Amino acid sequence: MRVAVTGTPGTGKTTAVDAVETALDVVHLNEVIKSEGFDTGRDGQRGSLVADMDALGEWLGDRDCLVESHLAHHFPADRVVVLRCHPDDLEARLTERGESAEKASENAEAEALDVVLSEAVANHGQDSVYEIDTTDRTPEEVAREIEAVVAGEREPSAGTVDFIGWL
Ligand code: ADP
Repeated sequence: MRVAVTGTPGTGKTTAVDAVETALDVVHLNEVIKSEGFDTGRDGQRGSLVADMDALGEWLGDRDCLVESHLAHHFPADRVVVLRCHPDDLEARLTERGESAEKASENAEAEALDVVLSEAVANHGQDSVYEIDTTDRTPEEVAREIEAVVAGEREPSAGTVDFIGWL
């Protein structure tokens, strides 16, 4: 069984997955990119590392795991959790984490436009996608919801969160 946890940067994937209690191996893809050198250089404009998706896909193979990353929905998975966060809160979280104002607002806009959710549904179908709104919830509360998805106790839910009015 592989469960992917994805979402716009700042939705709290790393923090929530660290609080999940599971028998599955936990994989933070960003750490794998760094430790294995799975990048194809730096993005010219932003200076951020560009992941080598082929190398990551090969490394993941068909291993069972709880895999966390904003790229996780680009790989095969049995269930895909998409963490969501109100764009204003997302921007605040990212700024607090030390990201630039530009990056924070770019991600807030992507969150309002459902970019990651749409990709997840396009790649996996809506019956495999589980949206969890993290706005005003603690990482522990979010972790319990992820555990429910892993346990098969939650119904799929895509399109239940709507931040489009924010735009
Ligand atoms: P991601 O892995 O999705 O980029 P992080 O887990 O790094 O997100 O969280 C981004 C920032 O938001 C961190 O500073 C973290 O402490 C904070 N954060 C994470 N989850 C929550 C939450 N549920 N409520 C408030 N702040 C959170």
